[in-house]
Amino acid sequence: MPVITIVDPYTRLPVSFTGTEIGHSSTRSPDARTGQLPDRWNEQRAWKIPRSDGSFTWKFAKYGYSVIYHAADTRCRSRDGLAGSPATVDDLPDDAVPCPRCRPAPPEDLADAKDAGTLVPVRYEFPRIEITDCATPDDVIMAAALKRSRDTHQVSVMLSGPARDLIAQCMADDDFRAGAGQLPRAV
Ligand SMILES: [Zn+2]
Repeated sequence: MPVITIVDPYTRLPVSFTGTEIGHSSTRSPDARTGQLPDRWNEQRAWKIPRSDGSFTWKFAKYGYSVIYHAADTRCRSRDGLAGSPATVDDLPDDAVPCPRCRPAPPEDLADAKDAGTLVPVRYEFPRIEITDCATPDDVIMAAALKRSRDTHQVSVMLSGPARDLIAQCMADDDFRAGAGQLPRAV
């Protein structure tokens, strides 16, 4: 069984556990009209974790990804304050995109400046990860269904397309399906 390592978003330390991935969904698909991949997207993953008594616990993770970075002195905002976190060209993904509003230098200029001995500060939208430890399959379903409004911070329960996709994959696992209660019938 593979050892899975996730980087804790708060401590930036790796969290390792032994388990099997039973579901993965992603909203990163090309735009139907332009064929472009989105600059921001979400992924969800679920794992089953064996316990010594033969039963299982479950883990669910929600990832928010972005390839956008901002100028160091940006006025762009995210829901938690200034957009992005301090970074340099070394932190950026290969397909990094400069924010069109605050217009930081393009990646190639940042790389040139680094070659010349200057690390230009920027603010990158590092991945966000929310990990939920789940005692039962229903807890996984609830975690996948919980949605926090960006504006009002209200929590609502709804299954998005990717969440349905993830749960359908999880339901193909016999132990998950056997442990799931009433909720999956509504899915
Ligand atoms: Zn910006």
